[in-house]
Amino acid sequence: MAAVTFRGVTRRFHGATRNAVDHFDLEIGDGEFLVLVGPSGCGKTTTLRMLAGLEPVDEGQILIGERDVTNVPSKDRDMAMVFQSYGLYPHMTVEQNIGFPLRTSGVPKRERAAKVREAVDLLDLRELLHRRPGELSGGQRQRVAMGRAIVREPEVFLMDEPLSNLDAKLRVQTRTQIASLQNRLGVTTVYVTHDQTEAMTMGDRIAVLNHGKLQQVGAPQELYDAPANEFVASFIGSPAMTIWSTRLDAGMLDLGDAKVPVPESVASLAGEREVRVGLRAEDFSIAKNGEPGLRMHVDLVEELGSDGYLYGRAPIAGQELQLTVRVDGRHHAQIGDTVTVRADTQRLHAFDPATGDRLS
Ligand code: ATP
Repeated sequence: MAAVTFRGVTRRFHGATRNAVDHFDLEIGDGEFLVLVGPSGCGKTTTLRMLAGLEPVDEGQILIGERDVTNVPSKDRDMAMVFQSYGLYPHMTVEQNIGFPLRTSGVPKRERAAKVREAVDLLDLRELLHRRPGELSGGQRQRVAMGRAIVREPEVFLMDEPLSNLDAKLRVQTRTQIASLQNRLGVTTVYVTHDQTEAMTMGDRIAVLNHGKLQQVGAPQELYDAPANEFVASFIGSPAMTIWSTRLDAGMLDLGDAKVPVPESVASLAGEREVRVGLRAEDFSIAKNGEPGLRMHVDLVEELGSDGYLYGRAPIAGQELQLTVRVDGRHHAQIGDTVTVRADTQRLHAFDPATGDRLS
């Protein structure tokens, strides 16, 4: 087991106009489950591949524990990687696939069998030992790939979108299994995904990347409650936060028929200039009869049983605001209705319109 440190790690591809990974700094604790998340093309895979030694580092350093591995070949880094495609050998059985890394590194047969048995028990693969990958479901293949990583007892696990070939239900099940397995094994894990729900539910901490740059790193709830900038605010959380431009007037926010005070911390930092403000769906609610608020035209109703979401638009200070409101499962709103929406402005997020950085 070991900590992993990135120091100013940069990768630039030939002919590219910007760095694929740009001065990336991150310390991952020993035994930590760190999720690297961001939109397509943000540099997640390149970061992971540099850590694995599969991609050169143009600038900066990567350390495992105290050891600088920046120029150490992949095979000498003591890491095990689980890919999206699993990379299983089709002609080998489950047992042979799992034992393969041990065979190539010359582990004696008896010891190999014991380790394979241990992994097989852990992953509940006993019944499938003699099948080949072609005779397995996607979820089972994924578990075999995990088994092959586990038997190596590496210092670090690297996982690149390992659940993306699974259907939605299996993905939910498997992400819990991986998180609890990691917890039991206590092996430092770096997990790449573009799926913010996966990041929120699996990681001890999440590192958000955009355009090759680290945007924020923190516990899932920290990122949700206090996103460092507008990008993180809109990327983390589902449905996405409603964000709009406005001008505070003496610390009051214009909400259609209502003027609502914002927290002092926001008012003092935003002042009288233009500011970007954001609220999550649960910070809006439907007004009771006669209360003032935003007049929202409902475009879409999403029912989830216990609760649901209304997607709509509301006129506000000469612009049309697209917003999402969480409602109780027993609401009566329908597409085409106009409802009055209140906002809990104590939960307001505020961002600098020029830099996108959080103000409060
Ligand atoms: P995705 O979620 O789509 O896999 P990602 O966040 O993993 O994306 P990377 O694969 O790390 O992104 O790519 C980062 C950037 O580097 C992208 O702009 C990509 O086009 C570019 N890139 C990646 N690999 C190469 C390569 N071998 N040569 C040139 N450019 C590359």
